[in-house]
Order: sequence, then C-alpha cells, then structure tokens
Amino acid sequence: MFKKTNLVLLGGPGAGKGTLASMLKEKAPFLHISTGDMLRSEVKSGTELGKKAQVIMESGGLVSDEIVTAMVGATLQKDEEKYGMLLDGYPRTLNQAKLLDSLLSKLNRPLDGVVYLCGDDDFLIKRLTSRIMCRKCNRIYNQYAFPPKKTGVCDDCGGEIYQREDDSEASARKRLVTFHAQTQPLIEFYQQKGLLIQVSCGEREVVLAEIIPKLN
Ligand code: AMP
Repeated sequence: MFKKTNLVLLGGPGAGKGTLASMLKEKAPFLHISTGDMLRSEVKSGTELGKKAQVIMESGGLVSDEIVTAMVGATLQKDEEKYGMLLDGYPRTLNQAKLLDSLLSKLNRPLDGVVYLCGDDDFLIKRLTSRIMCRKCNRIYNQYAFPPKKTGVCDDCGGEIYQREDDSEASARKRLVTFHAQTQPLIEFYQQKGLLIQVSCGEREVVLAEIIPKLN
C-alpha cells in the first residue's frame, strides 16, 4: 500500500510513536519493532538484561547502544517477509543511527523515511502522565481521551491495564531531558539525508491523515 515502508518513528516520550505504529499496522503488514516493549518484556521475565535495564529505564536514561542494536538486528535478521518495518523508539542516539545504517546496508534493506512526531514539552508531559497501557498486548490508552471500555481491562485482549513506572511526572521529565540531549540531534542527521517527514503530534486520526499521503 505505501511506497515508503521501512520507517523510523522518531519523537519525544509521549509523542505517540506506539499509537501511530498500531494504526499503520492496521493499514499494511509492517513488522513493528519497539525497543521499549522488548526491554519491558525482559524486565517482566526477570532476565539479567531486564534487571539492568529496569534501573536505567526507571531513571529516565538509555540502555546501551550495543544492547538495543543487537536486539533490533536479531529481529530484522529473522524477518523473511521484508515487507516493511516500523522502528519505534530506535535509534535514540547518533551512534545508534550510525549502527542502524550499517546494519541495514548489511541486510540490503533501505531506510525509506523517518517520521518525526514533534510536540512541545508541556504537551508531552500531559500525554505521558495520562497514558495507560495493557500489560499483555501493549495496547496504549489515555486515561481521559480514550480509556478502555471497562476500567482496568484491555478492550482487545482482556489484559490488565497499568501505568508504566516511568510515566510518573518525575520520570517523564527526566526522559524528556534525555530526549533533548541524546535523541534530538537525529532530527538534523535525518534531515540532511533527505529522510525526515515531520508531523505535529496531536489527535491520533489527524496525525494518521497527515502522514499517509507523505508515505506514498
Ligand atoms: P519507550 O517505550 O520507547 O518509551 O522506551 C522506554 C525506555 O526503554 C526508555 O526510556 C529507555 O530507557 C529504554 N529504551 C527504549 N528504546 C531504547 C533505545 N533505542 N536506546 C536506549 N534505551 C532505550
């Protein structure tokens, strides 16, 4: 359906990358790679990596470039379909962006675009602190704007709804500081490569309507 199918979703915490990924997956068979979801699953399983990652995630910092790149690389290598991919929350540093370039060129898979969801800090903080999600299928809700039909229960899979520990206001503010310091330079990096597709974050349907023509 889309001409641009290998995409990075870039944006501050709470910008709506995960929600956009879910909506795009309804339009085309994308492989959705969320490094945040992968790390949360390690934490949930209590692995050594999960134990180390949990401390970093709760402090609002970033897990090492090598670890997240290895996770992304392993998933891409297993993807035989190669229809398209949505990299959600990766890369997050310039070094990760360079590691991704070499990974994709080894896999002979081009990067077609980088969707940057931009929003100011106050908007992002409000979004983050009202975000809730499903522990089982990772579906994202908003306590006020679009809560699940039955309080505490996921509409899709019946899983338990919870608020992420790192969505507390204190943690969210630290994540924004990390975003500005470490991830923001990627905007220029991808702009110079002619890959940046910038959209203001806001109502999910409005964002989707604005992006779709830009992917074609
Ligand atoms: P997210 O669900 O994308 O907001 O990610 C939650 C947390 O996981 C982040 O605040 C980081 O601590 C960690 N994380 C996710 N993706 C990355 C990445 N690409 N590089 C480093 N840390 C990451």
